[in-house]
Amino acid sequence: MDEKIKQALIDIVGEDNYTDSLIDMVSYSYDASEYSQRPSCAVWVETAEHVSNILKLANREHIPVVPRGAGTGLTGTATPVRGGIVLDLSRMNKIIKISIEDRLAIVQPGVVYADLEKALAHYGFFFPPDPASGTVCTLGGNVATNAGGVKGAKYGTTRDYVLGLQVVLPDGRIMRTGSRTMKSVSGYDLTKLFVGSEGTLGVVTEIILKINPKTTAATTSMATFDNLEDAGRAVSQIMYSGIIPSVLEILGRDTIMAINQNTDLDLPEVDAILLAETDGYTTGETDFQMEKIMEVFKKNNAGEVKKAKSQEEASELWVARKSAYAVLSRIKTHVVLEDVTVPMAKIADLLKGIKAISKKHNIMIATYGHAGDGNLHPQFVYDGYDPEQVKSKGAASAELFQLTVDLGGTLTGEHGIGLQKAPFMTLEHDPAAMNVMRGIKRLLDPNNILNPGKMALDK
Ligand SMILES: Cc1cc2nc3c(=O)[nH]c(=O)nc-3n(C[C@H](O)[C@H](O)[C@H](O)COP(=O)(O)OP(=O)(O)OC[C@H]3O[C@@H](n4cnc5c(N)ncnc54)[C@H](O)[C@@H]3O)c2cc1C
Repeated sequence: MDEKIKQALIDIVGEDNYTDSLIDMVSYSYDASEYSQRPSCAVWVETAEHVSNILKLANREHIPVVPRGAGTGLTGTATPVRGGIVLDLSRMNKIIKISIEDRLAIVQPGVVYADLEKALAHYGFFFPPDPASGTVCTLGGNVATNAGGVKGAKYGTTRDYVLGLQVVLPDGRIMRTGSRTMKSVSGYDLTKLFVGSEGTLGVVTEIILKINPKTTAATTSMATFDNLEDAGRAVSQIMYSGIIPSVLEILGRDTIMAINQNTDLDLPEVDAILLAETDGYTTGETDFQMEKIMEVFKKNNAGEVKKAKSQEEASELWVARKSAYAVLSRIKTHVVLEDVTVPMAKIADLLKGIKAISKKHNIMIATYGHAGDGNLHPQFVYDGYDPEQVKSKGAASAELFQLTVDLGGTLTGEHGIGLQKAPFMTLEHDPAAMNVMRGIKRLLDPNNILNPGKMALDK
C-alpha cells in the first residue's frame, strides 16, 4: 500500500486497527469459496464514522474496498478480486438493544449470528434465518447475502426480518433506511435494496431486525423413497396441504451413502430421504401437523415412514442432515456447494435433471437441501488437480444453471452470486433488468470502488 494512503488509513482507525502483514493478507485473500486474491491491506473499523472516512478516501483515490464479516461466503463474495482494502467489520459486534415490547433487536454488523440467538433465548425469542454457519457468520454478512437456512419454508430468510439499516454509501455519506415499525410504505424500499447486495452498494453499520417468539414443542419424522419423483411430489403436496412444516429437508442417495461411510447412523440407502419437523406450543399440535405430513409421505409411495419417538432420536436425524457438507468434503480434493432454487412443483424435475447431468459428465453431484422452499444444494465432489474433472465440473455447473432457469428457478437461494455465478447472471435476468441493476450500481458507486468484480455489475 502506498505510504501516504497507509498513513491516512492509520490516522482514521489507529495503528492497532491496520495491517498489511503477509500472513494477514493471505488470510484475507479468500473466503469459503474456491477464489483467492491478496488485498493491499486490511482495516478493522469500530464506528460508522471510520467507515465513512475510509470510503471518502478510497473514493477520492479510486481504491477498491471489500467489506468483510467472518469470510464464510461460499461464492467469492468477500474475495478482494481487485486487491485494495479489506474492511473488516468483526469488531463492530455490539447488540445495541433488544426490545421485546417492539419485537425487535438493533445490532452492529459484526455480531455473530449465534451470539444474537443466545441473547434472544433469554427472552424466549429467536431470529429465524438460522444459516448452518451460524456459530461464526456475522449478521452484516447475513444481510449482505440474504442468508437463509433449514427453517426457510416456514419462516423465510433474512430479508423478511430486516426493518431498517444504517448504511455508509461509497462516497462516505451515512444514510438510514426503513424504521422500527412492523410495516411501512414510506418511499422506495431502500432497506430491501441493500439486503442481498453483497457489499456492492454500501457498507451496513447498523441493523434493525424483527424477532420472533420461540416455539416450545416440535415433532420430527423421516420417510424413505425409492423414486426421486415420488419424493419431489410429496414435497410439493406437503407445501400446499395446509400444514407448513418448520423444516422439510431432502437427502439424495450419494449423500446418504457418504453419511453412512463416515458415521454410524446407518441410514437406509434409498434414492431419497425426506426429513420433516413441525413446531408449535404443544406436542398435541405438532403431532397433529406431523400426522398430516406422514399421510402425504405414504400417499406418495414412501417405503419406511418413521416418527422420532424421543428428542435423542430426532437429534440423530438432524445430525445426519447437518453432517452432509462435511462428509462429502472428505471424498475428493475439491467440493463446490451450489444452491439452485426452483418452484415447488419442479423439485422432482430438478432432482432428475441433476442425476442426468452427473451421469453425462461423469462427475459426482450429491444432492441435499431445503426441499420445503425449493432450495437444493447439489454438491460437486471432484479432483480439482485433474484437468479433465475440472472441465467436466465446469460443463456440468453450466448445465445445472441452465436447467434451473429453464424450470423457472433462480441461480441462488441463499449463497449469493459473488464471483462464482457472475458469468451466469444474464441467463436469469433479462437485458433490461441487468441494465437497471448496473444503473443502480453506477448511481451509488460511480467509481466502482465497493466490492468491484462481483454480480456481473461492472459491464
Ligand atoms: C459450512 C458453511 C455453511 C453455510 N451454510 C449456510 C446456510 O445454511 N445458509 C446461508 O445462507 N449461507 C450459508 N453459508 C454461507 C455464509 O455463511 C453466508 O453467506 C453468511 O451470510 C456470510 O456471512 P459472513 O459474516 O461470513 O460474511 P462474509 O463472507 O465476510 O461476506 C459475505 C458478503 O457480505 C458482504 N458484507 C459482509 N459484511 C458486510 C457489511 N457490514 N456491509 C456490507 N456488506 C457486507 C461482503 O462484502 C460479502 O459480499 C455457509 C457457509 C459455510 C462455510
